[in-house]
Amino acid sequence: MYPTEFEYYRPKTLDEALELMKTVEEPKVIAGGQSLMPMLKLRFYEPACLIDLGAIPELKQVKLDEGGNLRIGAMVTHFEVIENGLIRENAPILASTAENIGDIQIRNRGTIGGSICEADPSADYPPTMFVLEASIVLLSKEGRRTVRIEDFIKGPYETDAREDEIAVEIIVPKSTDQYHVEKYARRKADFAVVSVAAIARTASDGSIEELRIAAGALTDGPERLKSLESALKGKKKDSVDLQTSISETVDALTPISDIHGGEEYRKYSLKMMLARVIKELIE
Ligand SMILES: Cc1cc2nc3c(=O)[nH]c(=O)nc-3n(C[C@H](O)[C@H](O)[C@H](O)COP(=O)(O)OP(=O)(O)OC[C@H]3O[C@@H](n4cnc5c(N)ncnc54)[C@H](O)[C@@H]3O)c2cc1C
Repeated sequence: MYPTEFEYYRPKTLDEALELMKTVEEPKVIAGGQSLMPMLKLRFYEPACLIDLGAIPELKQVKLDEGGNLRIGAMVTHFEVIENGLIRENAPILASTAENIGDIQIRNRGTIGGSICEADPSADYPPTMFVLEASIVLLSKEGRRTVRIEDFIKGPYETDAREDEIAVEIIVPKSTDQYHVEKYARRKADFAVVSVAAIARTASDGSIEELRIAAGALTDGPERLKSLESALKGKKKDSVDLQTSISETVDALTPISDIHGGEEYRKYSLKMMLARVIKELIE
C-alpha cells in the first residue's frame, strides 16, 4: 500500500522546524524513517505534513558537557553510536547496544532519537537507557523541558512528548562501570524476544557496590528490576543466592504472550539470561 498524500518539509534549522510544528496542520516528525515509513505505508498514520529532521546539523552532534554527561543529538544514527569515540569512552554499553539493532541498513538510517520516540517495547535502546538513567530533552515553541527516560516512555508506542515537541538530545550520564547487554531474538536482525541490560561495580572487598538491571521486550515497556538490584546490592558475591533472587523478581512479572514466545517461555529465558549476565558482571 502507498501512504496517503502529505506535504513534505525539510527545515535547515531547529527554529524553522519548531515553527512548522506549531503552524502546519497535523505535523509528524520523520527521522530515519525506519519505523515510520512502514507505518505510513500501512496507513497506521495519515499525517497531513511530514517534517524531516535530516538537514538540521545541531541534531547530529555528540558532546560531553561540563558535568561529564554525554549529550547525544536525536538524529545521531545507530551506526554513529557504535563508531563515536566519545560514546565508546563514556558510555560503552550504549555502543554495544546499538550493535544489536537490526541490520546494517537499519543501523545506517535509524536514529537514537527516533528509536526512543517510537517506544517500541522490543527495541534495544530503552533497557540500556533505563540503567544509564538517561533523560530526553524536548523542545517546542513553548520552551524546553527535560524528562527522565522512565517518565518519557509511557507504554507501547506511547511517550510523554506533545504533538508540537521535538526530541532534540539524549542526556546520558557517564558510565564506565562493568556492563553487559544481551538480546535473544529468533533471527539475527530481528527485534528482541527478551533482552537485558546491566551495569555493575564491585568494591575491593568483593561486595556488589552498584548494580542496575533492566529487561526489555517483556511487558508493555522496559522494566527496571529494582527488587533484584536491592536483593544483591551490598552483598559479597560468594554470599549471594542468585537463583532465588532472580526467581522471586521474575515470577512477580507478567510478561506478554505473542507469536514470538509465551509468558512462561519469556520468564524462563529471562531467568537464564539474568543468571548469566549477573554472574559475568560480578565475577
Ligand atoms: C526490519 C527492521 C528491523 C529492526 N530491528 C530493530 C532491532 O533489532 N532493534 C531495535 O531497537 N530497533 C529495530 N528496528 C527499528 C529501528 O531501530 C528504527 O531505527 C527506530 O525504531 C526508529 O528510528 P528512526 O530514526 O528510523 O525513526 P522514524 O521511523 O523516522 O520515527 C519513529 C517515530 O518517532 C518519531 N520521531 C522520530 N524522531 C523524533 C524526534 N527527534 N522528536 C520527536 N519524535 C520523533 C516519529 O514521528 C515516529 O513516530 C528495526 C526496524 C526495521 C524496519
